[in-house]
Amino acid sequence: MARAKRSSRNPERWRPGTIDGYLARLTLEKRAALQKLRGSIQSAAPRAEECISYGIPAFRLDGRVLVWFGAATRHCSFFPGAVIEEFEEELAGYDTSKGTVRFSPDEPLPASLVRRLVKARAARIAAPKKRPIEGRSARAESSRGKMTLREAVRILDEQYGKLAGPPTSDPFELVLWENVAYLASPGKRREAFEQLRKTVGTTPAAIAGAPDGLLEKVTARGILWKAFAEKLRACARIALEEHGGDLAAVVRGPLPAAKRALRAYPGIGEPGAEKILLFAGRDALLAPDSNGLRVLARLGFAREEKSYAKTYAAARDAAKALPPAVRAMQKAHLLLQEHGRALCKRTAPRCEACPLTRKCAYALGAR
Ligand code: SF4
Repeated sequence: MARAKRSSRNPERWRPGTIDGYLARLTLEKRAALQKLRGSIQSAAPRAEECISYGIPAFRLDGRVLVWFGAATRHCSFFPGAVIEEFEEELAGYDTSKGTVRFSPDEPLPASLVRRLVKARAARIAAPKKRPIEGRSARAESSRGKMTLREAVRILDEQYGKLAGPPTSDPFELVLWENVAYLASPGKRREAFEQLRKTVGTTPAAIAGAPDGLLEKVTARGILWKAFAEKLRACARIALEEHGGDLAAVVRGPLPAAKRALRAYPGIGEPGAEKILLFAGRDALLAPDSNGLRVLARLGFAREEKSYAKTYAAARDAAKALPPAVRAMQKAHLLLQEHGRALCKRTAPRCEACPLTRKCAYALGAR
């Protein structure tokens, strides 16, 4: 059995020899949270082997470290690497940075999310080093060059037809829409929002005055329902204290101030703020979500960069090829999002069923 070691830099610092040894020294709560995480990793990557790397628990797959995890004084951490950029929406409720997700031991990461992160990381380390789109075969690039973004959107329109957007164009309701049911399916999110409208109301004052338990019943359609009920309360507080209860007035003002105001709300980053401005009818911004962004990158309209923010900025440039009208941009946003959900999935795109396959840089480059 592997024995615990002392750090060579600091001989007094204890270093575990095994994951069990590491977990044995933690509090019950942290141990239980990390055991759950360990089980989810094992089920997502059954071939991966446990190890200790950099003094903390890790899993190794085909000779490379797949993921790490550990506990700090006030939280637990999961280290799946740069793939967290692909999960921006799902991780919106967590403290994340540079390949790390921090979470409270009393709210362990959902097993399904861990499994998807691990699979994405496994796919990433198994893939040959990515070449830039223009470095792929001339055949792929020249074929992609024959399709414009307008044409791709038209083909997706034929495939999916009219899609439902958010059920409101009011900016504050759109903020609530983002926070009402974390990681719920579109249908469940819609149900939660309708329940919020019916049982609580969607004004800042109504939410701020909602009795205990009512908001939790609404957010229970998603995961982390307690945290997200609290986020709805935080939305109401910000709207009342910072925007006099009238976010719509701020959103009608200058664009930089409108974006800044929106970004002050829980779970709203730059892409989220632009999406709200799009569906509030304020600006014709494509604002692709993570699904839409992936489709744009695979089709070759936006180069995939290491940072999510840079890929998003590239997609912003690509969107200039679309008609600069709010309705057209809303439609393109929804079609790209739906395509990313339905066929152009993160880990296993269903290219064989995709109407864009003959002109897609990713599909052609993979042949
Ligand atoms: S061909 Fe494949 S990779 Fe390209 S858009 Fe379609 S599903 Fe995505």
